[in-house]
Amino acid sequence: AKRSGRNQWCYFHQSQDESSPERLRLEADIHQAVKRQEFELHYQAQFSACGRRMNGTECLLRWQHPERGMVSPGEFIPLLEETGLIAEVGIFVIEQACRSIRGWREQGLPEDFSVAVNISARQLSDEYLLSETERLMEAYDVPPGMLELELTETSLMEEPTHARRLFEGLRAIGVRIAIDDFGTGYSSLNYLREFAPDILKIDKSFVDPIVESTRDRDLVAGIIQLAHTLRIKVVGEGIEEEAQRAILEEVGCDWIQGYLLARPQPITEFEQLMVDYGVI
Ligand code: C2E
Ligand code: CA
Ligand code: CA
Ligand code: CA
Repeated sequence: AKRSGRNQWCYFHQSQDESSPERLRLEADIHQAVKRQEFELHYQAQFSACGRRMNGTECLLRWQHPERGMVSPGEFIPLLEETGLIAEVGIFVIEQACRSIRGWREQGLPEDFSVAVNISARQLSDEYLLSETERLMEAYDVPPGMLELELTETSLMEEPTHARRLFEGLRAIGVRIAIDDFGTGYSSLNYLREFAPDILKIDKSFVDPIVESTRDRDLVAGIIQLAHTLRIKVVGEGIEEEAQRAILEEVGCDWIQGYLLARPQPITEFEQLMVDYGVI
């Protein structure tokens, strides 16, 4: 079934409570979900700040539950983390991303198009993440620079030692690194210095007020300048209005992502969008 808009998700209101029957059922279901391969990726396009050029995509995990429909990642990612299943599912996500890259390259996708995958804190200490990523990049013939891993400040904060080692390894195999939800952690500047990421994704909460508030606009402009000084590219997240897009373009934001231009979509629809924008 195809779903979109606000009623896309099936929520489990009691799932916060670890011992609730609802929660226990969901935990049992998620083991089944891994076995039965009920997960799939949706793709949200990224554009140049002018909005006319599509230059990348973020892969977002979806769980199509057999009875309950689409379950939100906000609900099941924590569950995957707590059960340790995130390692296996995380590799699945990277494999799907690599497979998509290969398929699209066969249809003419240029090498400067980026495909981003989210990594959670738990995965930073997964000893196989790096070797599996390397294996998959070879198996699917992924050129250096096309695959991007997104890590949040919070996970870097939780696992700084593992993160540093992983970053070095990823860089060596040509994977680009983005700091996700930039600005929402504390000590953001420290991460820029320590991890030297390729990309910053400015969190939606910073983008939201830029139309109404010049102060917030100046803050975002300052973040972009700082990033550019360090040769880091910037993505603005959660762009919903044309006025936000125009401001981000004006202050030199490199790329933008948000419902204004494209929602996350199943692969078939996303590929049609790629055709429309002339990238494949
Ligand atoms: P995120 O990485 O910050 O991803 C952006 C989220 O914002 C996505 O929600 C996306 O659908 C939503 N979004 C994009 N544009 C807009 C907009 O204009 N307005 C609004 N209101 N929302 C927008 P989604 O797909 O529900 O994912 C939620 C979170 O789940 C992600 O946040 C990420 O932290 C996590 N997640 C998703 N897929 C994966 C995955 O494969 N692995 C891991 N570890 N985490 C994932
Ligand atoms: Ca992300
Ligand atoms: Ca984000
Ligand atoms: Ca987020």
